[in-house]
Amino acid sequence: MNAPASPGRVHVVGAGVAGLAAAVALADMGRSVTLYESAPQAGGRCRSYFDAELGCRVDNGNHLLLTGNRAALQYVDRIGAGNSFEGPSEALFPFIHAATGERWTLRPNIGALPWWVLSAARRVPQTRAGDYFAALALRRADPSATIASVLDPRQNLFWRLWEPLAVAALNTGADQGSAALFWRILAETLGRGGAACRPLLPRVGLSESFVEPALNRLRACGAEIRFGARLRVLAFGPGAVSQLVFDAASSELGAADKVILAVPAAIAARLVPGLTVPDRHSPIVNAHFRCTPPAGAPFFVGVVGGAAEWIFRKRGVLSVTVSAADRFVECDASQLRDLFWRDTAVAYGLPAQPVPPARIVKERRATFLASPEQLKRRPQQVTAWRNLLLAGDYVDTGLPATIEGAIRSGFAAAALAAGHPLQAVTGSLSGNRDSLGSPTENQQERRPALP
Ligand SMILES: Cc1cc2nc3c(=O)[nH]c(=O)nc-3n(C[C@H](O)[C@H](O)[C@H](O)COP(=O)(O)OP(=O)(O)OC[C@H]3O[C@@H](n4cnc5c(N)ncnc54)[C@H](O)[C@@H]3O)c2cc1C
Repeated sequence: MNAPASPGRVHVVGAGVAGLAAAVALADMGRSVTLYESAPQAGGRCRSYFDAELGCRVDNGNHLLLTGNRAALQYVDRIGAGNSFEGPSEALFPFIHAATGERWTLRPNIGALPWWVLSAARRVPQTRAGDYFAALALRRADPSATIASVLDPRQNLFWRLWEPLAVAALNTGADQGSAALFWRILAETLGRGGAACRPLLPRVGLSESFVEPALNRLRACGAEIRFGARLRVLAFGPGAVSQLVFDAASSELGAADKVILAVPAAIAARLVPGLTVPDRHSPIVNAHFRCTPPAGAPFFVGVVGGAAEWIFRKRGVLSVTVSAADRFVECDASQLRDLFWRDTAVAYGLPAQPVPPARIVKERRATFLASPEQLKRRPQQVTAWRNLLLAGDYVDTGLPATIEGAIRSGFAAAALAAGHPLQAVTGSLSGNRDSLGSPTENQQERRPALP
């Protein structure tokens, strides 16, 4: 009797959250996995590090999850980090107008029927219930439409809510951001009610919630993890990848082996012939201030009418995020420090002077620009080569470049590599096949022709 054919090893290249999600899902299925990462550490654009100048650990950028981010929550549960988050006990979004000091709190009700828009105490001041329903026009938006072409930028609701949410979710201004993509985000969060909008923040840091527990899980499952392994070349044989070439070594692929390429878009385009990817990027600027936030201060505050956009309370740090930050990337760090502290001091009731020690972090290529034109460049996860799959926030997940999108792509790639339906990987998430984009139905059929 013949022995059953070996299912082969899956080589996952890139240990950002997309690669980690793929590797963990495969290791949980009992598959042999090798994870390669060019950097000395995992996490990619979602990680923490010790900042010697500030004398404390900081995150590379502030990342906010919502309870509606089902794949991300399943991932953190799977790696045993589900309890590593904190945040308000309900869907609360405190805002401040930086120039006038006016404060309000957006408080969507728990259920999907949005009666909160009828309550002046829960909605944005100087807006009417009818203004909110006008956003339903996004649902029918043409794929080429921008947010500002569908929603009225003269309305209070636009600049007090829709624009801040769109910029934060898409990392793209409303004048350029895709209306259809923004609708997708609203439908998965506010559209599902407050139960899907409770904010979750890593209690300690991004690495402690998303990265270290995943590596521990992989090690426990016997997966191989290789840091400092930069993939230089993918060698191709007839219809399949035949070899992975790294700086110091190379790996020949067996007939049943698979590759999940989970590197950033520009790197993938260099490694895979003929691959089209988004090629315009949008920056994010963060300012980490070393100070003691007042006791009982909110976990975060949204700022309108100022330079800062969102301010997060961390351990011994107040941290400012500005998305789609083109206007700030060329500014001096000292100038940005003063500008962002002015809003931070107002929002958290702290003295304007002296400005505390700060670290300014500019991520010039934080994510792809979520414009209608760039979305057309997002590739499918299945490639022309039978053993090569793509994962990462830039692939066509139907979501913006986010942790949720990256993790969904990782789970979907794992399902494809294992030849399983997506629900074998995502379990209870499978009830939402449409929003996860079933790889078997949506992607397998759209396998591109060989270049
Ligand atoms: C400042 C900032 C703030 C953000 N805020 C949010 C937020 O609030 N909410 C949210 O959901 N998302 C946010 N994002 C986006 C989110 O971080 C990304 O969408 C997500 O981390 C992307 O994960 P990824 O695995 O697709 O890619 P990456 O994290 O880029 O991972 C790719 C990995 O591949 C490795 N690699 C590259 N080349 C090679 C090679 N040749 N060989 C081997 N390895 C290689 C890289 O070192 C990296 O580790 C933010 C991003 C930034 C930068």
